Amino acid sequence: MKRIAVLGSTGSIGTCCLDVIGSHQETMEVVGVTAHSSWEQLGRQTQSFHPRWAVVGDESLKATTAADAFSPRTELLFGPAQIERVASSPEVDTVISGIVGAAGLRSTWAAVDAGKTVGIANKETLVVAGPLIMELAQQNNATLIPVDSEHSAVFQAMQSGRREDVKRVVLTASGGPFRGQTHDSLQDVTPKQALAHPTWNMGPKITVDSATMMNKALEIIEAKWLFGLEPDEIQVIVHPQSIVHSFVEFVDGSVVAQLSPPDMKLPIQYALTWPERTGGPSPKIDWQSTMTLDFEPPDFDAFPALKLGFDVASKGGTCGAVLNAANEIAVERFLNEDLRFSDIPRACRAILETHDFDPSPSLTDLFRLDSWAREETRRWQP
Ligand code: MG
Repeated sequence: MKRIAVLGSTGSIGTCCLDVIGSHQETMEVVGVTAHSSWEQLGRQTQSFHPRWAVVGDESLKATTAADAFSPRTELLFGPAQIERVASSPEVDTVISGIVGAAGLRSTWAAVDAGKTVGIANKETLVVAGPLIMELAQQNNATLIPVDSEHSAVFQAMQSGRREDVKRVVLTASGGPFRGQTHDSLQDVTPKQALAHPTWNMGPKITVDSATMMNKALEIIEAKWLFGLEPDEIQVIVHPQSIVHSFVEFVDGSVVAQLSPPDMKLPIQYALTWPERTGGPSPKIDWQSTMTLDFEPPDFDAFPALKLGFDVASKGGTCGAVLNAANEIAVERFLNEDLRFSDIPRACRAILETHDFDPSPSLTDLFRLDSWAREETRRWQP
């Protein structure tokens, strides 16, 4: 039995993960689930999976959470320290880190520090603290398996050759709802338009990131740290059907890709079964129907966030933490109609340029800069 903790179990990654585990009950067992505040849904999940622990991250909900909504076999806990405790428990083999945003960093850190196999869906962990996390994993013999669909694709494709024979990695991007639009036509799009993603069904923050292409910017940085790539070994290509999840090009010119319908259950399952493969609930490609796959270069002028991704990947150090924090707040302000769509990358660039750069920060430095960048972005005016 593989004993699994699902951090962020009520989010889009978490619910897909429970679907996967639910269809592998003879080999996988849920021992912990955690949510920030959705305790009713968390309670229902414990009624289906009867994990040892359920943690509500927001401690202020302790008084109003109904304990009888939870399985009698589940111990109900509160607060971020308990999430870290579950993530590092000796009773857990594999941790799926699906807590969105910088909030997922501490619990992912705890899991890596405890030497777990960690399925990383929380890309912010690598964007903010990539070199520190990779070093910590090495020190503690933790195994990091990407769950982000592009990075899972790269991870899968890389297994057909030696790492030193990889020439470049090409990350695919759906292009989001505004593919084909120009810099000018994107100035004043609304949150509602930005939240209508054509191929992927995800949470609001990552959906806006997909519309600005900041999601791809963060993925460039994530790929750099995960696979030890230089920024000039990473390219981005727009592929609106979201069937090819990324390409790996080897030195002989051979290109290996991973294809599957756009659904997170496959990369999550692969992280849970690696290095093996099993059947599962992910949708399959229908080879009997006509399929067209399109590829086009990205428009750096319409989507300035992409350039930010390459710049931050080149500079490293504190830049990832600042970009990530500035973007989280800028997206929040955009959703509250307090910033325009085109202000999101503009705010991020402005905060990056004024921050106190450090090429090799500690985790404490990164947390301090994260708070600083949030404050600055809250105050920033176009
Ligand atoms: Mg992705």
